[in-house]
Amino acid sequence: MMNDWPLLVGLVVVVLTSIFWMRGREQRLSHQFQRQLKAERQSSNQSEQRLQAFLLALQASPNGLVILDSERRIEWCNQTAARLLGLDASRDIAQHIAHLVRTPQFLEYLSQEHFENELRFDNKALQLHPYGLGRALLLVRDVTDVERAEQMRRDFVANVSHEIRTPLTVLSGFIETLQTLELSTDEQKHYLQLMATQSQRLGALVADLLTLSKLDAQAKPLLERVDMQSLLLQCEREARALVVTLKREMTITFDVAPGADMLGSTSELQSAFSNLITNAVRYTPDGGTVHVQWRQDVLTVTDTGLGIASEHLPRLTERFYRVDKSRIRELGETAGTGLGLAIVKHVAQRHGAELEIESSIGVGSTFRLIFGK
Ligand code: ADP
Repeated sequence: MMNDWPLLVGLVVVVLTSIFWMRGREQRLSHQFQRQLKAERQSSNQSEQRLQAFLLALQASPNGLVILDSERRIEWCNQTAARLLGLDASRDIAQHIAHLVRTPQFLEYLSQEHFENELRFDNKALQLHPYGLGRALLLVRDVTDVERAEQMRRDFVANVSHEIRTPLTVLSGFIETLQTLELSTDEQKHYLQLMATQSQRLGALVADLLTLSKLDAQAKPLLERVDMQSLLLQCEREARALVVTLKREMTITFDVAPGADMLGSTSELQSAFSNLITNAVRYTPDGGTVHVQWRQDVLTVTDTGLGIASEHLPRLTERFYRVDKSRIRELGETAGTGLGLAIVKHVAQRHGAELEIESSIGVGSTFRLIFGK
């Protein structure tokens, strides 16, 4: 029995050593495992952060983006796409896009094999870009402004064509008359005068169109010191000459503050001021008054003319907008082109000025250009 002790002690020592060694190993392994787990967690956090950053960038895109799987089911879409296509960015995930956007043009577009062209409907432009294994990125843009600009351009071209065609038709009618009829010298003179009027109208139209296109093309007006005394003196001469042509009696007064010059483009300001002043003369009947005043940074043109009903005021500066189209014939060669106030507005904007209009029917109008407001 006594002889068994060393064996027993040896056994106990071996067992205890093994237990401690295993514990130590377990601890070492557990530390190693935890380190590894931590590293994996960190890397997965970083991936998640990167993914979130990408999604935020895609959210910030001004275009709508929809990611579609190979079955054309929604995997993800940004808020812009959701708004434009009427989707719910969280609820509609995994839904088939064709079940949610049901416009016939879109369904037809989706069934195509190639997507080189974009589809336009309801003020939206949309294009599918296939990638990867049958997946696709659907891009959507709001084209309301583009459509509006295109409509304005179409209207403008139609208006210009109409404005050119009218005097041209009249001119060719008179040419035919002169060619086919035996006319007295006086009759011939009469017709030639009418033809001259029409060709002047065409010339004025082309000149105003060129002015507008120059204003559109140049980014900023050339700034120079504008001599307002001489600029307004030229406007005054033009206004008095127009009164003679119109064969009207009218009181015209100019009150120009001396030394109140300004920085701007002389040619643009000349064009704007002249349009306002000649309008005041043209739309003021016999016996009326036109008063022009220049004070530092403010031009005021007041007339005792026909006046304008308030419903027309917001549209007055649109190209070719006229209150009364029948006046074109009445005014003959002195009729405006319908572009005058559009030019004034353009020049005002380019000089950081504001155009104010006050008017009442039968009493008269005041047009005010306020610079440096
Ligand atoms: P227009 O060449 O026909 O004069 P504008 O753009 O200069 O074109 O003016 C637009 C319209 O505004 C005119 O057709 C006219 O009906 C109205 N208008 C402009 N100025 C006056 C004014 N001083 N008095 C009354 N009506 C005016």
